[in-house]
Amino acid sequence: PLTGTEPVEDHQITVCVRKRPLNKKELNKKEVDVISVPTKDQMIVHEPKNKVDLTKYLENQKFRFDYAFDDSCTNEIVYKYTAKPLVATIFEGGMATCFAYGQTGSGKTHTMGGDFQGKTQDCKKGIYAMAARDVFTYLRAPKYKPLNLIVSASFFEIYSGKVFDLLADKAKLRVLEDGKQQVQIVGLTEKVVDNVDEVLKLIQHGNAARTSGQTSANSNSSRSHAVFQIVVRSPGMHRVHGKFSLIDLAGNERGADTSSANRQTRMESAEINKSLLALKECIRALGMKGNNHLPFRVSKLTQVLRDSFIGDKSRTCMIAMISPAMASCEHSLNTLRYADRVK
Ligand code: ADP
Ligand code: MG
Repeated sequence: PLTGTEPVEDHQITVCVRKRPLNKKELNKKEVDVISVPTKDQMIVHEPKNKVDLTKYLENQKFRFDYAFDDSCTNEIVYKYTAKPLVATIFEGGMATCFAYGQTGSGKTHTMGGDFQGKTQDCKKGIYAMAARDVFTYLRAPKYKPLNLIVSASFFEIYSGKVFDLLADKAKLRVLEDGKQQVQIVGLTEKVVDNVDEVLKLIQHGNAARTSGQTSANSNSSRSHAVFQIVVRSPGMHRVHGKFSLIDLAGNERGADTSSANRQTRMESAEINKSLLALKECIRALGMKGNNHLPFRVSKLTQVLRDSFIGDKSRTCMIAMISPAMASCEHSLNTLRYADRVK
């Protein structure tokens, strides 16, 4: 498995997987760990030792990715191989995106937003914060300092095809597309930031808004995509120079809930399903010529990220999260198959 000393490869699309450790609850239930990471780029879903009517899992399934992170990997190591190489992209005038994909409870928010284990969240340990830290390092580096770029941040949520501003009391926002297919979220809060601490405050604020009024794993945050954006603009005209979008996706198992008795749930699930399928197509087509026919408008997620999927300077990274428990086997396989097809 990766130790963090291996060289970072250069890809326009990076796809990797991260296995989280079994948690206390799973250990108490004597859950079996069915996932192993034998090399730095391979993940295996194992045949359970105690074969109890699980004929469909009879064969170990092997998957290869750019990187496979096992449960000993820290957020810092994951960051080093995923989002960190994309910071340069936005200073070179490109668009960067980093997606956390996986079932609810697999570790998406832990990876992106930081550690929630204590009572208060330590968002410094998440990819959002680490990316912000490096953005300021680049901003002050001799190569980019003369550009006098202005850094700002936004944080919004896409829930059931609608956009809500996490930095403005979840105000519902409209998405407009002009004749040139430029997409704009009308009235989205974009706060100018001068240092990492200011960004951390925004992340905390947005995270609190995101989880307010929710109690269980069935809550809205597992059914919404959270999009945190760092934008760098040129002085004067305030033209966008580059943009880094970091996305904590809705739980992929939510997309399968299409036979629910509840109409609202069914509609939300259909929307999640559609957006995750469209996302896969849009990432796959990154860097290809003539990608005008992509299903950007099929979902709000791909529509608002449209400009991130076009242009040769755009780069993206997907981190697929896996829970190691036998009970999550089916979902883990779905996640691995999805990630396998992204590239
Ligand atoms: P998701 O956002 O995918 O629903 P979370 O990030 O909330 O999942 O993770 C679920 C639980 O597992 C949380 O309590 C989190 O702290 C814990 N967890 C996730 N990933 C890790 C990890 N790599 N190491 C330790 N704990 C983790
Ligand atoms: Mg989450």
